[in-house]
Amino acid sequence: MVSFWKRDSSRKISDLPASAELRDYVLGQAGKVSSLQVLGRNAEASEILARVEGTLLSRAKQTPQISTECHLLLAVLYSECGLNSKLEPVLKFLLESSALTKEQELIVAGALQNVRRQNPQSGGASSGPEGYTDVYCCRACGRLHNYVSMPCPHCGWMPKDEVRVAESIMLSTSAMSIADLVRVGRSLAIGRKVDEVVPNLKSSAEAFLETRENSDIVDSVLKLGQENVAKNSHSMRVVTSCPACDARIVCSGGTHCHECGKPLNLSGPLIALNCFDLLLALLETRVEVSPSNSVSEFIRLLVRMESNLLRRQEPPTKAERDYCLKLLNDIGALQDKGGGAVVDFSKLSKIKVYVVKSHMTPESEAYGVMLSVELEQLVRLMESGVPH
Ligand SMILES: [Zn+2]
Ligand SMILES: [Zn+2]
Repeated sequence: MVSFWKRDSSRKISDLPASAELRDYVLGQAGKVSSLQVLGRNAEASEILARVEGTLLSRAKQTPQISTECHLLLAVLYSECGLNSKLEPVLKFLLESSALTKEQELIVAGALQNVRRQNPQSGGASSGPEGYTDVYCCRACGRLHNYVSMPCPHCGWMPKDEVRVAESIMLSTSAMSIADLVRVGRSLAIGRKVDEVVPNLKSSAEAFLETRENSDIVDSVLKLGQENVAKNSHSMRVVTSCPACDARIVCSGGTHCHECGKPLNLSGPLIALNCFDLLLALLETRVEVSPSNSVSEFIRLLVRMESNLLRRQEPPTKAERDYCLKLLNDIGALQDKGGGAVVDFSKLSKIKVYVVKSHMTPESEAYGVMLSVELEQLVRLMESGVPH
């Protein structure tokens, strides 16, 4: 497994910046807890721990502006006291909160990777590769995206109460595989109701909310969501539509709109966003998605690269680009629904489309060509980087 975070492995969670007063308090108390644990005085250790947790969580609630800082310090507390089972959900929450700077995100992701390495049964295959933000399936439109604390970049929906946040977590890689999320998304996209598609959604969300830690996390996600609505309105719709007639762009390398014929003049980042999104849309709706690990990884990586470029204007890193090319090499071929068209990219420099007459539908060939054209674009972007 390629690690995106290797270069930051020397940084520790306790290196993260925080206000001096709170930080000193937390580190001081963490030292006491550790000493008491060593002495076997566990009841006293738990008492101090609960007091510090209470202080941090109530400060986070009272002053939402320092909520991220309080959660970072909570992570510092658990990390210093070696409480991995408590540390993991806080780190996951921080990664998904969308409130971290890139540097903080790298350190937090590295810490999560360490926790999971020490605790393989907690992370493991179900929650996917280390260092990634979870992928969510939007219950309103069925598309995949990276943050539950922000409006869906495809349709603008976001959870407005605790149960909906918990249900969204159940519709994410915290609870399901990518292949299952794609299946759920396909059903939602054709108008089926989420409770029919995932019958135990409500009960599993309620069970999730039963522990105090989970319900605190859900509370904080809601608060962040309220702040984000005001300041983050990144919409994929805006960047994937023709500025003149609003038609969906159907080819990331196209120079003119297929609908109104006006020039598109897409910049490098817009070409990349359209390419990532057309590929994701095809994978989510048309392409046969096997439970193969490489295809799941490919989907996760596309969601992540799309999210970072849209939300932070950050193009894929060299490590992400290399990893993407490796995954494409591993996958080798993808087929359209029902096997009517096969795109063979076992040689990335020579991508080929085959139509399988016995299985083809009227659209197979068009979708096969679309998939191959966007894969060619992706290979160019991953080999040379996203132009400015
Ligand atoms: Zn949506
Ligand atoms: Zn147009």
